[in-house]
Amino acid sequence: MIPPIRSPISLEEKAALEKSSDAAQIEFCNVTKMYGQVTAVRDLSLAIRRGEFLTMLGPSGSGKTTTLMLLAGFDMPDHGDILIGGKSVAAVPSYHRDQGIVFQSYALFPHLTVRRNLEFPLEMRGMKAAERTKRVNSILERVHLREFDTRVPSQLSGGQQQRVALARALIADPPLLLLDEPLSALDRNLREQMQGEIKSLHQEFGITTVCVTHDQEEALTLSDRIVVMREGRVEQTDTPETLYDWPATRFVANFMGEANILENPCFRIEADERQSPGTVPMIRPERICITSADKKVADKDYRQSVTGTVINMIYAGPLRKYKVSVGSSVLVVREHVSSGQHTFRAGEAVRLDWLRSDVRFVAT
Ligand code: ADP
Ligand code: MG
Repeated sequence: MIPPIRSPISLEEKAALEKSSDAAQIEFCNVTKMYGQVTAVRDLSLAIRRGEFLTMLGPSGSGKTTTLMLLAGFDMPDHGDILIGGKSVAAVPSYHRDQGIVFQSYALFPHLTVRRNLEFPLEMRGMKAAERTKRVNSILERVHLREFDTRVPSQLSGGQQQRVALARALIADPPLLLLDEPLSALDRNLREQMQGEIKSLHQEFGITTVCVTHDQEEALTLSDRIVVMREGRVEQTDTPETLYDWPATRFVANFMGEANILENPCFRIEADERQSPGTVPMIRPERICITSADKKVADKDYRQSVTGTVINMIYAGPLRKYKVSVGSSVLVVREHVSSGQHTFRAGEAVRLDWLRSDVRFVAT
């Protein structure tokens, strides 16, 4: 007997679930996967908490999809093990696993209506017609597709097809939801809208979700935690805030947004933190203030300031992005546009200053 669609959980319940002792729902234990000579995933160890939204983020070919396919049971690790609820699932085929999956291509049945697409997985589980109808209606309401139930996928927009795919993944109330680049086929506005939709579904139902993407903005928006992958290895695992604000490596600093890596700058870097060996200083472009060269800097004890020349300015709606040469170094500065603000032009002499506490040291 399949339980009814889970009722929404409160934030307190979600927090309690995540804190509970059996919170690690999924564990990768030293998992390695080879394809011939290529090591797609290398010695991956990772624990995913119950109710967590975890994103695997990395460039193309870094092993994200392979990791997800191993978790889904479409492939087996060459070394190591994957545990769900403390038990090895290595020998459990994907069709015996309790999970919902959304692939990059939505993989809907093209000849079936939306309603039949959603009913199909329930029918396979032997659910009675009346219960099926009730459940399909409820999920259709939830993804705002009630009036589209008689259409076939080709009569729907990309965003609508995406919502059907999500609804189908959620319809049997799985404890685990797997998403592989679910929004990459959508244009920007729709993608942002669907990000909001996925986030609110996750908050409402608290389903453990593992998402794969190469889009850092998407990862930052959706995730409780992000695993940054590079060439089959985990580069860093942290919350979005920590990854962005305290990247451990140059790779993460560059992959999560823009970074000024101050390698051999022509000025001495002052920082609150001590530089450890094998690291380089880094500062985010939005942490640098740009003013006219003749302006004095306040609280010099806390700030470092340098002078330079504007190379160019790129206008990007709410932001202005400046490239500024400081001796032989080039720094990128990002400034929010506000009224009455001076726009610097190429060739203008400027002063850049930043808080010493905003300098980070990242491993090279
Ligand atoms: P991502 O999803 O991060 O783009 P993948 O996990 O798809 O990366 O691939 C990781 C590496 O493994 C790549 O070098 C890719 O070419 C290789 N790979 C993935 N699947 C296969 C396969 N079925 N056969 C051979 N090589 C594969
Ligand atoms: Mg992939």
